[in-house]
Amino acid sequence: MNFQVINPATEEVVESVPMAGAEEVDAAVARAATAYETWRHVAPGDRARLLRAFADTVDAHLDELAEIEVVSAGHPIGQARWEAGNVHDLLLYYSAAPERLFGRQIPVAGGLDVTFQEPLGVVGVIVPWNFPMPIMGWGMAPALAAGNTVIVKPAEATPLTARRIGELALEAGLPEGVLQVVPGEGPVAGQRLVEHPGVRKIVFTGSTRVGKQIMAACAPHVKRLTLELGGKSANIVFADADLAKAAATAPYAVFDNAGQDCCARSRVLVERSAYDRFMEMLEPAVRGVRVGDPRSADTEVGPLISAAHREKVRGFAGDGVAFQGSCPEGPGFWFPPTVLTGNGHGWDEEIFGPVVSVLPFEDEADALRIANDTAYGLAGSIWTRDVGRALRVARGVEAGNLSVNSHASVRYWTPFGGFKQSGFGRELGPDALGAFTETKNVFIASD
Ligand code: NAD
Repeated sequence: MNFQVINPATEEVVESVPMAGAEEVDAAVARAATAYETWRHVAPGDRARLLRAFADTVDAHLDELAEIEVVSAGHPIGQARWEAGNVHDLLLYYSAAPERLFGRQIPVAGGLDVTFQEPLGVVGVIVPWNFPMPIMGWGMAPALAAGNTVIVKPAEATPLTARRIGELALEAGLPEGVLQVVPGEGPVAGQRLVEHPGVRKIVFTGSTRVGKQIMAACAPHVKRLTLELGGKSANIVFADADLAKAAATAPYAVFDNAGQDCCARSRVLVERSAYDRFMEMLEPAVRGVRVGDPRSADTEVGPLISAAHREKVRGFAGDGVAFQGSCPEGPGFWFPPTVLTGNGHGWDEEIFGPVVSVLPFEDEADALRIANDTAYGLAGSIWTRDVGRALRVARGVEAGNLSVNSHASVRYWTPFGGFKQSGFGRELGPDALGAFTETKNVFIASD
């Protein structure tokens, strides 16, 4: 069967893409297993050079990749360029790893004890539709660098950039089977990848609902697993903060990528004494967000991914709307930036759209109580000029990625991942290499 990739800004069909069945996944796993026997033994310097050549090839096709993402995911062109650039950066960053995967020499009696960081084998990377290129890169780059072979299963709606990156890998000289991209449906191709005994590790980024199913399906093989799941992150604004900056940036912390961001700060908590002033400044900032044609360099926010997703988002934006920004009329799956007040419908659910709830809090303890009153724990922001408070609150929030006087969550050289039901395992930075290697200990007797 085929899946129709739709341009979310025009509702036109971009391409009808064949979806792989279980047999095609099996064939990909067999190719990846064969390629692994060679790839794992490629000299570290050669593997590093191939990854650098792959990075250069991605860089040479940055505009092409960005333009594909504009039409297939509706991402604004500036953002799409950043996303393609992120894949280049990740490949370059992890190209340093093959020559630096150091083991240790541990003092023992009666001989020599050394450790090795060994690759796992065939790794499956299952990617959602919201950031198709970066999330593919987060799994693919460190996995390849550590000597694994990789099968990427992109989301149904957004397979085109992944497929192109797979072709670029071959153009750059990566041997056949080292990186394969297999577009397919989650419950068919994705599930087969998860259940296949020849796949040693799954990196899954997506919804908490599917993440739980994948965790269960990995159990029979004790398959290694990294889960990057949903979020409901808090943006905590204290009265002593630079309120103008906090209010001016808050919309982008949730409406970027039309709110289809696992790190979206979709709950803004404001100290009660500053609440009215903050809301006065937030309103013009929200109304000023430029939602429109993703091909335009001026556009900040594009459409939602699909009509069905827009209906889901609309269901959350009924009662309690304080104010909304604007968006184009159809065609296209548009939705206006929307601010809700109070902790009503949607307060504890991941909406994954441009909808934010704002709620007052009384003091530091109250802020922490509200921030942690969620099953998720992915990210969060803290706005204050008091360094001690910033540190206390950062340590108190149950989430993997906190930023103070900033909304930045993702840097490719620092670890990223969730607490609680936002998942487990860490991607990016040096920690990611541990997720794609096993530590082997070898003792050599001297007597
Ligand atoms: P999803 O869970 O519906 O799908 C994600 C991927 O899993 C897709 O490729 C899909 O085809 C596949 N899939 C679906 N069912 C499967 C199954 N039974 N077995 C194997 N694979 C299956 O999620 P989505 O709607 O594509 O993405 C949105 C979600 O992703 C949100 O919840 C968001 O928070 C989350 N997300 C998390 C992070 C993070 O780093 N924590 C980053 C981005 C997105």
